[in-house]
Amino acid sequence: MNLLSGNTFGAVYWSDNKMVAPMLPEVSFVQKCPQCGKYYVLHEERISGEGDDWSFELGTLTFDEMKEAFDQLSAEGFNNTEEEAQVRFLLHHSYNDCFYREPTELTPDDNDKLLFKQNALWLIENSIADDVMRAEFYREIGEMDISRKILEETFPTDDFLKYIKNEIVRRIEQNDNAVFKLSDDE
Ligand SMILES: [Zn+2]
Repeated sequence: MNLLSGNTFGAVYWSDNKMVAPMLPEVSFVQKCPQCGKYYVLHEERISGEGDDWSFELGTLTFDEMKEAFDQLSAEGFNNTEEEAQVRFLLHHSYNDCFYREPTELTPDDNDKLLFKQNALWLIENSIADDVMRAEFYREIGEMDISRKILEETFPTDDFLKYIKNEIVRRIEQNDNAVFKLSDDE
């Protein structure tokens, strides 16, 4: 996973690697079965198993649902690291959706914070190769010193990555761990 992995018209990119494309909304990789409430990941073999009445919806899940989904799917066991990473990115994004992406009165409790932190550390360890993005995930879990140290040793040549680096540094100085919008084509 890295930043700027797509270029979709009208898309909005966020610093946690979430991309919102209004013209091409993404179908959630984790889906909740409308019949039994169980969660499953989108693999073609499982979709076909749902029968002819399958209706293809986005299936966007809330943070509470993603917590349930993560508990169930990890108990069942992931098929591979890539699948686990995709589920964990959704968990990360849903936490930011709930508490940081838009203004809200909601605040995470200690359990939520711990889950968010452990999940981000797993992603940093197993799935995030880009140093700017690693620094951003450390910032989001409040590890400002680690984030700053990575950025002090990271020198992007790409102008957009330079801009993102500077935006992260600015927020570290303010002790701000909120996700932020990177770009907006409008
Ligand atoms: Zn079901």
